[in-house]
Amino acid sequence: MRLVLLGPPGAGKGTQAQRLVERLRVPHISTGEMLRQAIEKGTSTGREAKQYLDSGQLVPGQIMIELVRQRLDEPDCAAGFLLDGFPRTVLQAEALDDYLACRSSSLDAVLEMQVDEEELIRRLIARRRGDDQPDVIRQRMVAYREQTMPVSAYYRQHARLSTIDALGTPDEVFARLLSAVEK
Ligand code: AMP
Repeated sequence: MRLVLLGPPGAGKGTQAQRLVERLRVPHISTGEMLRQAIEKGTSTGREAKQYLDSGQLVPGQIMIELVRQRLDEPDCAAGFLLDGFPRTVLQAEALDDYLACRSSSLDAVLEMQVDEEELIRRLIARRRGDDQPDVIRQRMVAYREQTMPVSAYYRQHARLSTIDALGTPDEVFARLLSAVEK
């Protein structure tokens, strides 16, 4: 099962991604998590990416595409994966399609978690990760609106998008996601 999980920061993507990968038994590929680990380890990717994470901006596409390609080439991804936080631009979505097409493969589903913006900001302020300072949150929402919302339109055009109401208890949201995957 090859899946992409989309949704704005604060939609509860991390929690649901965790539950989905346990149920579906595929690796969880969180690009945000990969970048935070690279920064912690002090790798060259980490050093390049840090300024973008600290300011809430997107890391340049070429770095991200390379990072994801290398990860998807690993054997544990052969039977499927859940991408969380990638693609975040139409260019990344196209690169992912190209990568899969070259391997005679394609995505099985794209799941979009939807929550209204006021609720999102409330959740993000309650969470307070390092990059959850109010001005960084604002910048991440701008990046989402301007660069990532078009990704939903891209997948909608290709008829692979399932939009899921992400308001409700984690169990309710999980049930909606699973029923979309099983469709
Ligand atoms: P996340 O944990 O998914 O919210 O990602 C945290 C930060 O990592 C984002 O605010 C971006 O700076 C960076 N990032 C993660 N995934 C991507 C991506 N696909 N493209 C560009 N930047 C990304």
